[in-house]
Parts: sequence; C-alpha cells; structure tokens
Amino acid sequence: MYLNIRQKVILGFTACALAIGFIGGFSYHYLHAIELKQHVVQIADDLREIVLETRRYEKNYLLYGQDEDFKQNQAYTQKALEVLATIMADVKNLKVASQMDTFKTDLIDYQGLIKQLASLGERGQPDSRGLEEQLRTRGKALVDLSVQLVAFERLRILEIITTLKTQLLVSVVVFLAFMGFIIYIVNRKIILPLRVIENTTKRIAQGDFKPLPVLDTRDETQRVVEAFNLMVEELERRQDQLVQGKKMSSLGVLTAGIAHQLNNPLNNISTSCQIILEELDQADLEFVRKMLTNVEQEVYRARDIVKGLLEFSRVREFSLKAIPLEDVVKRSIRLISSQVPPGVDLVDEVPWDLILELDAQRMQEVLLNLLMNAIQAIKEPPGEIRIAAAADPAHHEAVLTIEDTGVGIPKEELDRVFDPFFTTKEVGVGTGLGLSIVYGIIEKHHGHISVESKQGEGTRFTIRMPYHPEAKSERAAS
Ligand code: ADP
Ligand code: MG
Repeated sequence: MYLNIRQKVILGFTACALAIGFIGGFSYHYLHAIELKQHVVQIADDLREIVLETRRYEKNYLLYGQDEDFKQNQAYTQKALEVLATIMADVKNLKVASQMDTFKTDLIDYQGLIKQLASLGERGQPDSRGLEEQLRTRGKALVDLSVQLVAFERLRILEIITTLKTQLLVSVVVFLAFMGFIIYIVNRKIILPLRVIENTTKRIAQGDFKPLPVLDTRDETQRVVEAFNLMVEELERRQDQLVQGKKMSSLGVLTAGIAHQLNNPLNNISTSCQIILEELDQADLEFVRKMLTNVEQEVYRARDIVKGLLEFSRVREFSLKAIPLEDVVKRSIRLISSQVPPGVDLVDEVPWDLILELDAQRMQEVLLNLLMNAIQAIKEPPGEIRIAAAADPAHHEAVLTIEDTGVGIPKEELDRVFDPFFTTKEVGVGTGLGLSIVYGIIEKHHGHISVESKQGEGTRFTIRMPYHPEAKSERAAS
C-alpha cells in the first residue's frame, strides 16, 4: 500500500497523539490506584492502632474484670467497625476487599465473644476459660490481619509504581520512535526533494534543461517532480522557440549587411555583362572568356553569401565534427564584416591548424553573438576586437578568447550577463538572449565560457573547449 506524505504525517501525528493519550491515561489510572491504596494503607494503619487499643482493654478486662475496660473495649471495636465501613465501598473492587471482609467477620466474632464472656459474669470457670482462650486467639488473629493488610497494600503500591515506571519508559521510547519516524519522513520526503528541486532550478536558470529523475514514491513529491519536469520541458520548448526567434532577429540585422554585400557581386556581374554586350562584335574570344570568368566568380561569391545566410537560418541537429576553428572564425568575420564600423579593427589570431570537435553552425552563432556584442560595446571608435586561440594540451583544452576595447561591464552585472533576457540595450537593439544562447551552445560542446571585464577598458570572453588531438590522429591513422 502506498501512503502519500500527507497520510504518513497524519498517521505519524495520530500515533504520537495516541501514545501521549495512552501515557496520560494509564498514568492517571495508576496514580488513582496509588491514591486509593495509600488511603487503604492509612485506614489499615488506623485499624491496627485501634485493634491494639482494643486488645489492651481486653487484657485489662481479663485481668481485673472491670466494667470500664469492657466498655472501652466495646467502644474501640465499634470504632474499628465504623472505620472499616468507611473504606469498604472504595475497596470493593480491589483484591484487599476479601481480606477486609475476613477482618470484619473476625471483628464481629471477637465482639460477640467478649460480650458472651461479659454476660457469664462469673470468672475462672471452665466455660469462661475456653472463651478467654478463643478471645485471645481471635484478638491475635485480628492484630496479625491488620498488620498484613498494611503490608499487603504497601507492596501493591510499590508494584504499581514499578509497572508505571516501566510503562512510562516504554511509551516514551515508542513516542520518540514515532517522532523520529516523522522527522525522517519530513526530511527524506520533503526537505531532500525540495533541495533537489532548488538545485535543479539553479541548473535550469543556466540553461541546462535535464529533467529530474522521477522516483516511484506515488506521493506528493512524485507529483511535484512530474509537474516540475513538465514545466522544464515546456520551458525548454519555449527556449528553443526563443533561440530560433533570436536567430531570426539577428538575421534581420545581418540581412541589411548581406544585401549590401550582395550588391557588390551583382554590380560587378552587371558591369561585366554590359562590357561584353557592348564589345561583342569586336572583342576577341580571350577578352570575352576573361569577362565571363569574372561573372562566374562573382556569381559564386553571391552564392556563398546566400548559402551562409541559409546555413544560419536553418534548424539542424546538433552534431560535432572535427574542423579547423579558423574556418568558423573566418566565416563569422565575413558575415559580420559589414557591421563593423570604420575605426574598429577586427584582429584574427586563430592558428589555422587548431582542429576542434565543433558543430560549425552553432559555433558560428557563438562567434556572431560575441562579435556583435563587442561591436556594440565599442561606442566610440577607434577600438579593437581581437580573436585569439591556443591549444593547452596539458589540460586537454583549447582556449579561445574574444577581447574588445569597448565600454566594459560593471562588476555587479558580470554574473548576470549570461542570464536569459539580461540586457542593457534598448528595446529593438538587444534581446538579452545572445549570451544565454552562447552559454548553452558552449555547454553542449562540453566547454565552458567565462567573462572578465574592466569598465571603460574592455571585456574578454574566454571559452575553454575539450581538445584531444591524440584521439583524432589515432582515429585518422587507423
Ligand atoms: P543583448 O546583446 O541582446 O543585450 P546579450 O546576452 O548578448 O544580450 O548580452 C547581455 C548584456 O551583456 C548586454 O546587454 C551587455 O550589457 C552585456 N555585454 C555583453 N557583451 C558585452 C561586451 N563585449 N562588452 C560590454 N558589455 C557586454
Ligand atoms: Mg548580444
């Protein structure tokens, strides 16, 4: 049977409440019994005193035969009966009741005997001797019985106290065990999952959309985790939509530049065609061939630009291929070159032979975003944007840096620039998605990106990527 957390906690608390109720209940019961027995002991003690008095007068009466002693004896016997009557109702359910009964009958017998003796009048006769003997025996029995009563009840009190003590101890242990159980449940089923969710939230904030593992606990945490995963899934879908949207919007920015770039080859083509048309009659074949080759090259150039654009706007599966980083850098620089204002130098120091496992399209997106940010950061040219890379075989890493001499990032914003939607730019210029996309792509490459900046001096983004040249050359060799 599966209980959810609510049921478990309710069960736990009910058990605790029952345990407390139980402890209270039987403690009360035993204390009540002790009280009663204490009372019985007191009465029994009184009875013993009274019986001893009775016997003192009995002895005197037997010795001196004085009426006064007889009367006193009778009075004390009566008193003993009265005292006995006060307790009988209270003890009728206790074990001691039968002893009390015996005591009462004995007392009445005793009273009867002494009255009989008194009615004989004459003393020293065989009749009265027998009676005297009986009287003594009965009297002695009464004293013994009263002593026994006290001892018996005292013993019972001790027994009850011992039982009470053990039961209290047991209940406290049971109670603590239940408490421990509840604490365990709360910790294991509520606090721990909450902490996992808290950590996952941080992870998700950084763009890692791995869902939480769902445990088959069939309780609230499972439902929360399932709901959470649904949310993560939805978020990821939205994020992908946003990424695509962002790409489209940077496409808009790029289009202007690309239209400009396309203009050049188209102009050249049109000029070449005009020249050929004009000089078709007189021109020698060699000249026409040269012109047509020109046209062909310009067409290729235009095709490449359009291809680059298509490449950029297409959604593709993420796939890593070993390619020279420099290729990607060159392509990105070509795409962005029309956006570089005069006075801003773009310096490319990436070695041509640095080969990395890359998704070329995604990596190009990274570079375009970083370069675009750098260009936008250089508000007052002149300025410089420097792209450099180096292999660090000792750490199996390649380090790529993109530096600019722009306005820099204030310290308090440094750890927020990778957050989705964090932007300091006006609406229409910035969406705040660029760096979060960059971050996600680098993560997908199992790399890491970090940023350093000094306000007013510039910014440097450092990307570390896995680099395993041996593995590749081995693969190439085999
Ligand atoms: P967007 O460019 O759309 O604003 P990004 O995620 O690309 O979004 O960048 C977030 C913010 O980080 C920018 O608004 C800017 O304040 C800051 N930033 C990013 N790159 C640079 C840089 N090279 N120099 C200065 N600030 C930068
Ligand atoms: Mg940006």
